Amino acid sequence: MTDLRFAGIGMTSARTRDRLVQRLREQGITNLAVLERMRNVPRHIFVDEALSSRAYEDTALPIGFGQTISQPYIVARMTEALLEYGPVDKVLEVGTGCGYQTAVLAPLVGRLYTVERIAPLVERAKARAKELDLRNVRFKHGDGHLGWKAVAPFDGILVAAAPLTVPEALLKQLRVGGRLIVPVGPEGQQELIRFTRREQKIDRVSLGPVSFVPLLGGIA
Ligand code: SAH
Repeated sequence: MTDLRFAGIGMTSARTRDRLVQRLREQGITNLAVLERMRNVPRHIFVDEALSSRAYEDTALPIGFGQTISQPYIVARMTEALLEYGPVDKVLEVGTGCGYQTAVLAPLVGRLYTVERIAPLVERAKARAKELDLRNVRFKHGDGHLGWKAVAPFDGILVAAAPLTVPEALLKQLRVGGRLIVPVGPEGQQELIRFTRREQKIDRVSLGPVSFVPLLGGIA
C-alpha cells in the first residue's frame, strides 16, 4: 500500500513527474541533484487527496490554515540557489509548511533544521518526513524571525515566507561564507534575495521577482 501511495498512478505517476522535471529544465533549473529530488519526492502525499491529481502542476496548492505548498519551480530555484557554490552542511529552513521543501532539501544537505509557526503543520510535516525516512531533519514549532539560536551558526538558511525586511537574527546566525535565501517585500513587490556573509560585510544579490505568503510574527 505504502509503495503504491509513493509511486503514484495516473496523474501522480512517474511519467507525470518526468513532465514536471522537463518543465523545470525549460525554466532554467540545471542542478542535476535538485532535478532528481524533484522527480523522486512524491509531492502528491503532501496535499489533500482531493488535490492529488494536481500535485505535479507547477503551481502552489492550499494545505489548510491559509497556507500553501510552494510551487515546484520555486522549491527547485531556492534549493539550487542554496547549493550554487557547492555542498552545504548545516541548514535552517524557515516556514516548514507541509514539509515538501524539507523533503526535497534534506538528502542534499548534512543536517536540516526547520521551523514553522503553525503547530498542526509541524506535526503533519514530521509525519511525512517519517514516512519518507528522512533522518537528518529536526523540527521546531516557533517563530522563524528568531532563527534557531541553540544550533546556529548555519551554512545556509532558506526562508519560505516573505518578511518586509530581513530579520537580523537570520543574518547573525549565518557563518562566514554562509548564505541566506529569502523573499523580501510586501505582497506584489517581493524579490528573492541571496545574502552571503563575508568577514566584514554582507553581499546581496537579487534573484528576481517572486510571490510568497507573508512571514508572520509569533506562533499559532
Ligand atoms: N515550503 C513550504 C510552504 C511554505 S508556505 C512547503 O513546501 O510546503 C510558508 C510557511 O511559512 C507557512 O506554513 C507559514 O505558516 C510559515 N510561516 C509564516 N511565518 C512564519 C514564521 N514567522 N515562522 C515560521 N514559519 C512561518
